Amino acid sequence: MLIGSVEAGGTKFVCAVGDENYRVQERIVFATTTPAATLAKTIAFFKPFKLAALGIASFGPLEIRKNAVNYGFITNTPKPGWQDTDFVGPLKAALKVPITWTTDVNGSAYGEYVMANLSNAHLKSLVYYTIGTGVGAGTVIDGQLLGSLGHPEMGHVFVKRHPDDLKFAGICPFHGDCLEGLVAGPTFEARTEHPGKDVPLSALVWDIMADYVAQAAMQTTLTIRPDKIVFGGGVVSEPFLVKVRAAFNRLLNHYIELPPLDDYLVMPLMADNGSATLGNFALGLKALKE
Ligand code: ZN
Repeated sequence: MLIGSVEAGGTKFVCAVGDENYRVQERIVFATTTPAATLAKTIAFFKPFKLAALGIASFGPLEIRKNAVNYGFITNTPKPGWQDTDFVGPLKAALKVPITWTTDVNGSAYGEYVMANLSNAHLKSLVYYTIGTGVGAGTVIDGQLLGSLGHPEMGHVFVKRHPDDLKFAGICPFHGDCLEGLVAGPTFEARTEHPGKDVPLSALVWDIMADYVAQAAMQTTLTIRPDKIVFGGGVVSEPFLVKVRAAFNRLLNHYIELPPLDDYLVMPLMADNGSATLGNFALGLKALKE
């Protein structure tokens, strides 16, 4: 049996075909251009395969309510040309298979959840944060993605400002200094005039960012009590997570019992966002069963 996966990003699309054991058979990467051209390329890639189902994880925001007239649309995205784009409709018409439709970060969250449990981690729940060009998170509880009115927007929560960062206004076009506005990749240039890759880990800005990410992890811990919190995205590295764990430990102050933080606040099991592809295959299989 063959399942399709679409990871729709703002700069590139990754399409893959895999089997029920999540083994990738065929994969293609192409640039995100106009909706018409990009969706046509996506359909052309999948058309030769006899797919049983398709999982799509896309940049958003998305309409995910099945009873909405614009279900399957990308809605008010800042990406030029992509506002109010019917994504699922054209794929459904061309490929005629069950389709799951969720956010990019939910796809990754689902993949990490499935992967961890394939390696016998016995997780009931997992939260996956991406900290890159944007910030978002997805939550899986007992095999279901959290969110019914819409997908969670955990990147846009507020955090307490770091005393050494009070002059920075933040870069979120909607909220200024929400979490995304304070820790997304482009904040490095906004704060230091250098891209993050050129800012040494010893610079204070990394400690400030670690403090904010630790606050987000603390709120998620206290609100959801997940078995694990995974951090992916271009800003995240193991040395950065060492800082996050230290800040988290100070903030939590041993209030509740948790697994060792090296096992609790972790990098993805699968490199290069491979978790998104696996998650899409798993969600496609799930759609087939439902
Ligand atoms: Zn925001």
